[in-house]
Amino acid sequence: MARIIDGKALAAETRGNVARAVAEFRERHGRTPGLEVVLVGDDPASIVYTRNKEKAAAEVGLRGALHHVPASTTEAELLRFIGELNASPTVDGILVQLPLPNGIDPNRVIDAIDPAKDVDGFHPVNAGLLSVGRGGLVPCTPLGCMALLDAHLRHVGEPLDLSGKHAVVIGRSNIVGKPMAQLLLARNATVTIAHSRTTALPELCRSADILVAAVGRAELVRGDWVKPGAVVLDVGINRRKDGSLCGDVHTESVLQVAGGVTPVPGGVGPMTIATLLANTVLAGERRLS
Ligand code: NAP
Repeated sequence: MARIIDGKALAAETRGNVARAVAEFRERHGRTPGLEVVLVGDDPASIVYTRNKEKAAAEVGLRGALHHVPASTTEAELLRFIGELNASPTVDGILVQLPLPNGIDPNRVIDAIDPAKDVDGFHPVNAGLLSVGRGGLVPCTPLGCMALLDAHLRHVGEPLDLSGKHAVVIGRSNIVGKPMAQLLLARNATVTIAHSRTTALPELCRSADILVAAVGRAELVRGDWVKPGAVVLDVGINRRKDGSLCGDVHTESVLQVAGGVTPVPGGVGPMTIATLLANTVLAGERRLS
C-alpha cells in the first residue's frame, strides 16, 4: 500500500517558513513584501482560487490586495494597470489569474508583467531562465510538486538526486507540464513528456519511477499504469459526474501499487498556494538585493 504524500501538512510547514521570511524581510527592508492578485471577470473557479490566494497571503503577513475588475475591462486598461503595479516600488509580486475573458490576449498580459515580479513564473524570460538552468521565478505548481517529491524521498530515505530514475510527465502545458519536466531534468532524472498525441501511454507510464499527471482528465491514470513503488504526483483538479472533486489519478487503484501518491484534494493544490507566497518573498528579496 502506497504512502499518502500529505500536501496539507507540507503546505502548513511552508507557510510557517514564509511567515518567518516575511518578518525577516520587514526587519531588513523596513516594509512588508506585497502581492497583488488581479482577477478579471466572474469565472466561478477563478473567484475561489483568487480568494484563497488573498486569504493565504494575509495569513503569512504579506501586504497586498485582490483587484477584482469587471469582464468588460479592455486589454489596454488591464495592461495600463499592470504597468502601474510594475512601477510601484512596494509591489513585489503580480499575479493575473487565468483564464482571461475573450478579447484579452493572455500572452500580451503575461508579457506585460515585470519578470522580476512575475510570481507565477509564466513570463517567457522566466521560462527561458528555467530552461537554461539559470534560476528566475519558477511556476508554483511544478515547484510545489518538487517539494512534495523531496519530502517523500526524505521520508523514505532515498536520495533527492534522481540520477538513473525515469520520470514521465503527462501534459505539456507552459504552466505545469513543461516546467515540471525542466525541474526533474535539472535533478538528473531521465524525463519523458507525454501528451494527447502520445501512443501506448499506459506502457510508457509503467516504466516511470516518478509519474506526474497534469492532464485534466478525471482518474485517467489507473493502478495498472503504475510501476510498483513509483512516486505518483497528481496535479489534476476535476469534477466527477456527481460533483465531487478528483484528480487525474484513480487514487484507490494506484494506492495498491505505488510507493507514494499525492491525494486530491490535499496534495498538490495546497502546495501551489504555499509556493506562490514563497515566490513573492523571494521576488522581493532578489529585487532589493
Ligand atoms: P492544459 O493546459 O489543458 O494541458 C493538459 C495537457 O494534457 C496537454 O498537454 C494535453 O495534451 C494533455 N492531455 C490531454 N488529454 C490527454 C490524454 N488523454 N492523454 C495524454 N495527455 C493528454 O492543463 P494544465 O493547465 O497543464 O492543467 C492540467 C491539470 O492540472 C488540470 O486538471 C488543471 O485543473 C490542474 N491544475 C492544478 C493545479 C493545482 O494547483 N493543483 C494548478 C494548475 C493546474 P496536448 O498538449 O496534446 O493537448
